[in-house]
Amino acid sequence: MASGILVVFNQEGGRVRRVAYEMLSLAQKLAPGSITALTFGEGADQVREAVGRYGADRVILLSSPTYHRYSSDGFAQAVAQAVEAVDPEALFFPANAWGKDLAPRVAGLLGAGLASDCTEVHRREDGRLGAIRPIYAGKAYARVAIDSPRQIFSLRPNIQAVEESGRAADVLTVDPGLDASSFQAVVSEVIQSQGGQMELTEADIIVSGGRGIKAPENFKVLEDLAEAVGAALGSSRPVADEGWVPHSYHIGQTGKVVSPTVYFAVGISGAIQHLAGISGSKYIVAINNDPDAPIFKAANYGIVGDLFKVVPALANEVRRIKQ
Ligand code: FAD
Repeated sequence: MASGILVVFNQEGGRVRRVAYEMLSLAQKLAPGSITALTFGEGADQVREAVGRYGADRVILLSSPTYHRYSSDGFAQAVAQAVEAVDPEALFFPANAWGKDLAPRVAGLLGAGLASDCTEVHRREDGRLGAIRPIYAGKAYARVAIDSPRQIFSLRPNIQAVEESGRAADVLTVDPGLDASSFQAVVSEVIQSQGGQMELTEADIIVSGGRGIKAPENFKVLEDLAEAVGAALGSSRPVADEGWVPHSYHIGQTGKVVSPTVYFAVGISGAIQHLAGISGSKYIVAINNDPDAPIFKAANYGIVGDLFKVVPALANEVRRIKQ
């Protein structure tokens, strides 16, 4: 009988994103059955110790040149073969761009149900897994049950605390026997985003600017706060549409959905389309000079004031405390 959880994640050069540890920590809570980690690419061999520390009993490391460049169809076939070898009850993928691309293809290949972008996965009374995921652009949450024997979940980053288990993961050798030349689509080049900032969907703190910043050169004020608090930078849609910041900064219904611990909304009015992308934030701190701005209804902390005075003062205070 299928048991345990297969946690599939991306890594670069041995650098594992925190969401992988979050998925392993969640799997620890939900198992019975063993937890198997699966990753791809150059540097995969370096992750064994780390994944063991966060709960993997076994790890499949597909590090051969076949897997050096991402291929949706190729990697999906490899995961499907790993599933045959491991026979897990469920698969976890990160709900980042990589996982959102791969998980549905794996679900299609396996004929398994998929619940995407989950904010919670739990064990139900009938012993099967269930999930909670946002719907209607974060306005409501749906409880999801998957009827197929195999269940697949993609998990939003920053929804689960990481917990060390002190395990040592054994390497499980699985050779899917695939040839990269048969892959239908392969990523040929990855161009780093401007400034090389951390991926917004995985950031723990975000400083985000809206039209209230008035001009692109004023974004420096936000960069200063972001540097002081160790945050990634984001923006509302008009700011990205104007070309004041790269499009990768755009957060909201038509942009990125983020789930940081702290989200600073600076000079952002709080339109429903923007809120759709930030409802998973633990704390929203709004800075706006209009006390009636809708963002204050969504915020946990609000500062009514001119951002050009409030933000530098905040950055200076953070630096003072850190000294
Ligand atoms: P504004 O609404 O103009 O707000 C600027 C705010 O700055 C105001 O509240 C003002 O009080 C404040 N301000 C001004 N000066 C200062 C100052 N000196 N100090 C402090 N505060 C100041 N928007 C998104 O963000 N993301 C999306 O994904 C998105 N998708 C959309 C999809 C559709 C189909 C549509 C129709 C719209 C979408 N929008 C989206 C646009 C959205 O409706 C809003 O127009 C947009 O979010 C407003 O951006 P903003 O808050 O930066 O600007």
